[in-house]
Amino acid sequence: MEKIRLGISTCLLGKNVRYDGGHKLDRFLTDTLGQYVEYVPVCPEVECGLPVPREAMHLEGNSDSPRLTTTHTKQDMTDRMVRWARKRVAELEREDLCGFIFKSKSPSSGMERISVYNEQGMPVKKGVGIFARILMEHLPLLPVEDEGRLHDPELRENFIERIFTLKRWREALAKEKSRGVVVDFHTKHKSLILSHSANHYQAMGKLVAKAKDLPLKEFYSQYQTLLMEALKLKTTSKKNSNVMMHMMGYFKEQLSSDEKKELLEGIDHYRKGHIPLIVPITLINHYVRKYNQTYLKQHVYLNPHPLELRLRNHV
Ligand code: SF4
Repeated sequence: MEKIRLGISTCLLGKNVRYDGGHKLDRFLTDTLGQYVEYVPVCPEVECGLPVPREAMHLEGNSDSPRLTTTHTKQDMTDRMVRWARKRVAELEREDLCGFIFKSKSPSSGMERISVYNEQGMPVKKGVGIFARILMEHLPLLPVEDEGRLHDPELRENFIERIFTLKRWREALAKEKSRGVVVDFHTKHKSLILSHSANHYQAMGKLVAKAKDLPLKEFYSQYQTLLMEALKLKTTSKKNSNVMMHMMGYFKEQLSSDEKKELLEGIDHYRKGHIPLIVPITLINHYVRKYNQTYLKQHVYLNPHPLELRLRNHV
C-alpha cells in the first residue's frame, strides 16, 4: 500500500507556527503513524497571511456562528479566515486525503468543544474552529480527529481503521472501475463492517445485491457513504465477540474440541474485559493459517492495520 495522505495542523509536526512562535509536536503522529502516512500540513492562521509570532485569537459571540477575533486588540479576522479557508478546502479536495488530524482547542483548527466567549467574557465550550468547520462541512465523509482525542485508544483505533479502509477503497477503485471490484471489496470488509454496525452490514449487503440496478457512479457513491458512516460508529466488545463467533462458524468442523474450547474461552475473556481484542484475534489468525481457511484469510477484520501500531491492545 502506498502511504496514506492525511491533512494535519502544521504545529503538530513540530513547526514553529503558533501565535507564540512555538509548536505542538506530537511524537505519535510524527514517529509512529508517520511511518505509514504522508502529511499535508495546513496552518490556517499563517496561510491566511498572519505573522509568527502574532496576537492570540479566540472565538466570540454565538457558538453556531462565532467571530474569530484577537484577544486584546479585538481585530475581527473572521472574513479573512473564511475567504482563505474556502479556497484552501477546494485545493485540499484534490489532494486525495484519507483523513485530517486537527489541533485541539484552536479557534481556527479545533474540530469540537472550542471555547466561544459570550458577551460577559465567559467561555462556552461549544464552538468549532473556523477552518475546521469549513473543511468538515465541505468533506463530511472524511475521517477527522484531533490529537487530544487520539490519545484515547478506542478513538485512535477507530480513526486509523477508517483511514486505512478509505485508502484500500480508493486503491481498489483506482485499479478498475466495475461492480465486481466493489463486490470483492465488500467480501473482504464484511466482518469489519459488522464489527461496527449490523444495520449498515445489512444495508450494504442489499446494496451490493442490487448493484446492477444502479448506475455505476451512484453505486460507488452509496457504498462509500455507508462504508464511512458504518466505520465511524464505535465497535464494542459485544459486537467484536459476535463477529469472532461468526468467524469461528467457518471452521468449527476442523477445530479440535480443545482448540474450540480455547478459542471460546479467549472470546469470552475478551468480552468480559479481561484481555485485549488482539489475543482472540491472534488465535483466530493462527487457526486460519493452520487450517488454510481461504475465505477468512481475505477478511480485513483479522488484519486491518499494521501490528506495529499496537492497536487492539487495550482492555
Ligand atoms: S492550531 Fe492551527 S492555526 Fe494554530 S498554529 Fe496550529 S495549525 Fe496553525
